Amino acid sequence: MTLSRNEVLVQSQQIFRSANERMQALAVAIVPAEQLIPFLCECADDACLGRVDMSLSDYDDIHRDRDRYAVLHDHQVVDGETIVEQRALFDIFTKEPLAN
Ligand SMILES: [Zn+2]
Repeated sequence: MTLSRNEVLVQSQQIFRSANERMQALAVAIVPAEQLIPFLCECADDACLGRVDMSLSDYDDIHRDRDRYAVLHDHQVVDGETIVEQRALFDIFTKEPLAN
């Protein structure tokens, strides 16, 4: 089975997401909720080394909806993602339900 370009992008994005979830799980025990932490950009470019500085409370807030992704301005997004909020340092995208 060959993955479509979009499926490859989604996979890359999930790798960044799971790295961020591990970071959050570690940080929550040792970092004050308002301190900025360098999370990974959750765009779909597997070579992206971008950092998205946000506090744990921001992270929680954005990812309460698990279909939301924090992506640096002008980075690669996946087909079907739409912007829901623009912040000073990054944009927040949400995934549309996949139409199969
Ligand atoms: Zn990026």
